[in-house]
Amino acid sequence: MEFDDFYSEDLRKQQYKAAGIDADVLDYCDAVCGSLRDRFGRIDSIAEFNQIKVLHAMQENQVSEACLGSTTGYGYDDIGRDRLEKVYASTFKTEDALVRPQIVCGTHALGLALAGNLRPGDELLSPVGKPYDTLEEVIGIRPSKGSLAEYGVTYRQVDLLPDDSFDFEGIRAAISDRTKLVSIQRSKGYQTRKSFSVSEIGELIRFIKGIRPDLTVMVDNCYGEFVECMEPSEVGADMIVGSLIKNPGGGLAPSGGYIAGTKQCVENAAYRLTTPGLGKEVGASLGLSEKFYQGFFLAPTVTASALKGAIFAAAIYESLGFPVVPAASASRHDIIQSVVFGKPEGVIAFCEGIQAGSPVDSHVRPEPWAMPGYDSDVIMAAGTFVQGSSIELSSDGPIRDPYAVYFQGGLTWPHAKFGIMMSLQKVKEAGLFDPARLR
Ligand SMILES: *Cc1c(COP(=O)(O)O)cnc(C)c1O
Repeated sequence: MEFDDFYSEDLRKQQYKAAGIDADVLDYCDAVCGSLRDRFGRIDSIAEFNQIKVLHAMQENQVSEACLGSTTGYGYDDIGRDRLEKVYASTFKTEDALVRPQIVCGTHALGLALAGNLRPGDELLSPVGKPYDTLEEVIGIRPSKGSLAEYGVTYRQVDLLPDDSFDFEGIRAAISDRTKLVSIQRSKGYQTRKSFSVSEIGELIRFIKGIRPDLTVMVDNCYGEFVECMEPSEVGADMIVGSLIKNPGGGLAPSGGYIAGTKQCVENAAYRLTTPGLGKEVGASLGLSEKFYQGFFLAPTVTASALKGAIFAAAIYESLGFPVVPAASASRHDIIQSVVFGKPEGVIAFCEGIQAGSPVDSHVRPEPWAMPGYDSDVIMAAGTFVQGSSIELSSDGPIRDPYAVYFQGGLTWPHAKFGIMMSLQKVKEAGLFDPARLR
């Protein structure tokens, strides 16, 4: 294929060669890419739908240049902050939202939503099995100072059935007079179960509200925003909660989290973030509003890039015989992909490739280390602009059986593609598969 703007296939091959990708790796990846055209077309359609949704929310709320400014101190009458919260609420079809740089991460946002909406004597129910690791200490499943358990909030969990479906009868039996809040995690996080679609979450919420319409339902929406055309708040969730250094920050938000939901739920959470009485009225935006708006505007296409990267990685490694979760052809409800290598060298080579393919710290070689809170060494690749940002291309893996690597993010599709090609290059160099398979 020749183009009249100096682009040529030869030039492209040279470009990749100079960047460290062998010709057989490039050709193989190109062939896999070609087979994904229909999938990618569908992802582009969802991004288009969500782009218009966000754009419309910004127009409807009359985002203006003044909204991009900053406040300090108490942050009274911060029009940018207040308007941004309206934009989130319009986009997610909720009454209100809390979107703040003072929310330091996803766990903090979830902790606020729970602590703000539960009272001593209440019971929290997870009908989808064990929650994300960091929430175990928030809830007090693992004893921890200041946990909900210390404040007299009890916890109950109903595990999924062996085929990952909801245990409806178990859930019915677990709901008591004391049950106050039901927490549903959309993404599997680092578990082996599947992630739930918005429609499955809707079905679960209808069932729960059919038993007790007064229950509050919270959805941990981390990694799920903009992957589908609807969010859990459109199928009955009273609150959805997430991190701004994942999907909705669009890679530009340097910090922050959000809670979108009913006026009452958001207000309760705001009284926890600041104090009773002050709530949403205070909290300076410290110059970050512009990045929050712009990141949210980019979030649908950035999420689409990450999603293409996940599917591309699944297709590459699956075709080479490595087990992948989800499978390449599976429908997607979050941006996380895992590849099982069966040996530590695979996890290490993959992460080395992702790191070598990064815009920041590409010259650094990641190594497994004893990270606090983990029972085995963990290797992480994160050459990101924002520390720990997982909407940017990143991967990590515990060095233990089955030696699986978890991969997510990619601000642009060409970069996600390049990072995965680089991982394949390193996995090839480590001799983890027969290179004849690339031909
Ligand atoms: C990322 C994530 C969280 C929160 O993690 P932070 O690192 O605190 O932002 C919670 N739940 C799920 C499912 C997640 O993916």
